[in-house]
Amino acid sequence: MILDPHIHSIYSGDAKGTPRQIIKRAILVGLDAIAITDHDTMQGSKVAKKEVKDFKSIIIVPGMEISTSKGHILALGVQEEIKKGVTPQEAVDRIHEQGAIAIVPHPFVRYRKGLFVNIQDLKVDAIETLNSRYILGYSNWKAKKFAKKRNLPMIGASDAHFVTAIGSCYTQVDSEPNPDDILSAIKKGKTKPHGSRTPLHLILKEVINKKIKKC
Ligand SMILES: [Zn+2]
Ligand SMILES: [Zn+2]
Repeated sequence: MILDPHIHSIYSGDAKGTPRQIIKRAILVGLDAIAITDHDTMQGSKVAKKEVKDFKSIIIVPGMEISTSKGHILALGVQEEIKKGVTPQEAVDRIHEQGAIAIVPHPFVRYRKGLFVNIQDLKVDAIETLNSRYILGYSNWKAKKFAKKRNLPMIGASDAHFVTAIGSCYTQVDSEPNPDDILSAIKKGKTKPHGSRTPLHLILKEVINKKIKKC
């Protein structure tokens, strides 16, 4: 399964693209599964689940990106929203209570609230080692080294804030085509990150875009 597990929609407040536009683009670029992971809301994920009925050829893994007190955590497979501002440990506990998985996105990117800049002794299920926004930087390299040392499953994701960036990085998951199996395969480390950098003009567009409030 080709999965992009970290995409932002209009419900993030700092991203373009409705869930419907995201689904269409994801199908166009050949993804099998996506997670819409908006900042502190499951709205985008929920809307996508309804919209996808018109398409059928793609799997929606429910998700959100939680702003914990020490940095961001991706929750995949959650059914209920987790409030922003909780401690990282609380967030992980809430995620696991729901049978969902916790992934640390951009773990070492300081200015994007990378969690592992602040703490590292948190038991998570996987970490992003390939985030399309930091391909050239030191942070992806550091994340990969960390994942290998801790034997953590590695995830590739676009962290797209524009539909054209969707799938620029992705995770190949050795699983059956359903959300539960995708999540358990990630936990087992049956993942391979792939991809390339978000085109620079899109990153610049985003920086220039004054609507950007969060990351
Ligand atoms: Zn983030
Ligand atoms: Zn994000």
